[in-house]
Amino acid sequence: MDGFEFIRRQLDELREANLVRSWRTVDSAQGPVVSIDGREMVLFCSNNYLGLAGHPATAAAVCDAVRRYGYGAAASRLVSGTMRPHIELEAELATFCQKEAALVLPSGWTANEAVLTTLPQRGDLVLLDKLDHASIIDAARASGAEFHTYRRGSLSRAEKLLASESYRQKYIVTESIFSMDGDAADIKALVELKRRYGAILVVDEAHAFGCMGPTGAGYCEAMGLLGEADIVVATMSKAFGATGGVVAAAKPVIELLVNKARPFIYTTAPSPVNCAAALANLGTIRAEPERRQRLAKNASYLRERLSAMGLDTGESCSHVVPVIIGGEKETLAASAELYKRGFFIAAIRPPTVAPGTSRLRISLQSEHTAQQLERLCSAIEELVTCGFLSARPR
Ligand code: PLP
Repeated sequence: MDGFEFIRRQLDELREANLVRSWRTVDSAQGPVVSIDGREMVLFCSNNYLGLAGHPATAAAVCDAVRRYGYGAAASRLVSGTMRPHIELEAELATFCQKEAALVLPSGWTANEAVLTTLPQRGDLVLLDKLDHASIIDAARASGAEFHTYRRGSLSRAEKLLASESYRQKYIVTESIFSMDGDAADIKALVELKRRYGAILVVDEAHAFGCMGPTGAGYCEAMGLLGEADIVVATMSKAFGATGGVVAAAKPVIELLVNKARPFIYTTAPSPVNCAAALANLGTIRAEPERRQRLAKNASYLRERLSAMGLDTGESCSHVVPVIIGGEKETLAASAELYKRGFFIAAIRPPTVAPGTSRLRISLQSEHTAQQLERLCSAIEELVTCGFLSARPR
């Protein structure tokens, strides 16, 4: 007995409920095809939407930067960790997001944490979409402000709260493209609400950043509403092919974060090498809009094919396309069958998604070929025929 029986019990419970988690180890660069256990697998569950994580230009930028700056920043940003690539990346990201200033943080998670634990205070109201990312929910919880969730499509409760006079400052916080459903926030409606009630609109563009909009700035840009997002949070960990989070906003917002945001102040600065990679990839995102176009084309092809099979893809309108199955066991089985056929698509289960909505979350890349998509569709069709997947009433 080592005193950890209570932990073993929890793990047993997870195993019994088909909720235990594990990972597969990738032995190659991230791309549409990766090497796992000596096998070439077509990857349909990474966020490498634009194929930049393993791009030769990324590797070249990393090599240059590591020669010049070494790897570690070795201190927090406000001590001695701020290096030239941080400053260059922040300037470029501010321009990209059409905001006065930007601040780079170690991850998208810490970017949300920095904003939501610094700006909203006791006496304020924070309104969250019910399906907002865990980083948003946890940060709102920690903020000290009163927070409530709303369901997309029924904003009347949110509006009632916004209309109340009893809050000092009001915030609406939403993802733009939702991570597990690939559907979009009703940004227009949220903009109307924020204008009517003087709220601050925070938009997490994690899954749209680089992928949507005329210049790639995200879904708000695609909707012509980027100027209405008061604070843009995003990540360089997905389409940008690097890691790190960013907050872009008016100068005083960024200045307050620099002075008060604990997830910014009390952590070592991100590696300058990582910032150089993100900066190089921002250049590719700007110079090669065809990557976004290929991504959108791949996504609409897959959505059409899956709906023609009668599968439940929710309200996806993006390069994240769920196949909602329901049960955990069935989802694990479908994922395993696809794996046998050469496709890596992880099973997404609670608590990442609500109980009864376990799913295959298929994420497309601009670099997936028509042939790879066709093969995936044939494999999924086979699973429908064998009964591993079934059409669900919507
Ligand atoms: N926000 C959303 C909507 C996400 O999906 C994620 C990703 O996991 C994050 C924030 C966190 O980003 P990062 O992986 O850079 O911490």
